[in-house]
Amino acid sequence: MSAKILDGKTIADELRAKVAAEAVKISAKLGRKPGLVAVLVGDDPASQAYVKSKGKATEEAGMASFEHRLPENTSEKDLLALIAKLNADDAVDGILVQLPLPKQINTARVIEAVDPAKDVDGFHPMNAGKLATGLPSLVPGTPLGCIIMAKKAHGSLAGLDAVVVGRSNIVGKPLAQLLIAESATVTVAHSKTKDLKEVCRRADILFVAIGKPEFVKADWIKPGATVIDVGINRVPGADGKNKLVGDVAYQEVSKVAGWITPVPGGVGRMTVACLLVNTLRAAAARAELQAPNL
Ligand code: NDP
Repeated sequence: MSAKILDGKTIADELRAKVAAEAVKISAKLGRKPGLVAVLVGDDPASQAYVKSKGKATEEAGMASFEHRLPENTSEKDLLALIAKLNADDAVDGILVQLPLPKQINTARVIEAVDPAKDVDGFHPMNAGKLATGLPSLVPGTPLGCIIMAKKAHGSLAGLDAVVVGRSNIVGKPLAQLLIAESATVTVAHSKTKDLKEVCRRADILFVAIGKPEFVKADWIKPGATVIDVGINRVPGADGKNKLVGDVAYQEVSKVAGWITPVPGGVGRMTVACLLVNTLRAAAARAELQAPNL
């Protein structure tokens, strides 16, 4: 058997086209384009690349993209002052602070400083709490993208056994909450889980977000299951250059799974598209307009 591919590029492109169409309508009502600002502290090349691609995607969706690049030695006080300014800026609907931050800055304090109404990453404890209690909220992009992909494979997720490996605040935990909201039966596994392989084998849908290259093997998968690989790992390739691989051993797992997401070209594509969705939702909600039809 060979798994069908859940192609992140195609699904994300569809979503981005819908966002662009809705952005035109919302821009007309606001009298300006919805605006997303990215704040980058330091010069980590991966973070720079992410911010650049998010900015490009924002503009392609017909929204305004702003950027603040701060030096590596920026103090927490200065970063918090910038966030306060952006919170008060009416042209800014979404604020994205690229993580990780340099060690002199307390990440939790920065996340809490962002106005929850502009928290397009969905990391603010108020948005996390709303998600957990079933209230409308801004939801982190990566788990939102995972759910959209899972629904492409299954339609409804109700009653399915879903296993999430990883319990971070940005992926595993919000993903588990979203799955509960979809009426899946959810197990969350992590580094202390006993007999992880057997836990994974129970899954109708397996989500893996651990940051360990090709960790999940073919004999961990129930035949026909859907496998959604969130991991992004850089490893040396045969040609000596770095290549990207997921947390799942793609070649062997795709022989057992029913559906699978590739890396690259899978969940990563959805993360950016969902950030755009959140920016549009934030712009509409701030102006008390009807939520966009996405
Ligand atoms: P974190 O490091 O914050 O969390 C990793 C989680 O994996 C932890 O809960 C940890 O368990 C668990 N874990 C680690 N090792 C094992 C193991 N051997 N067995 C079982 N569980 C394990 O990572 P993130 O959630 O931020 O990211 C996970 C991966 O997803 C990374 O590769 C990252 O690059 C990628 N990612 C991809 C995105 C995308 O757009 N596609 C976006 C965000 C992340 P414990 O809690 O017990 O320590």
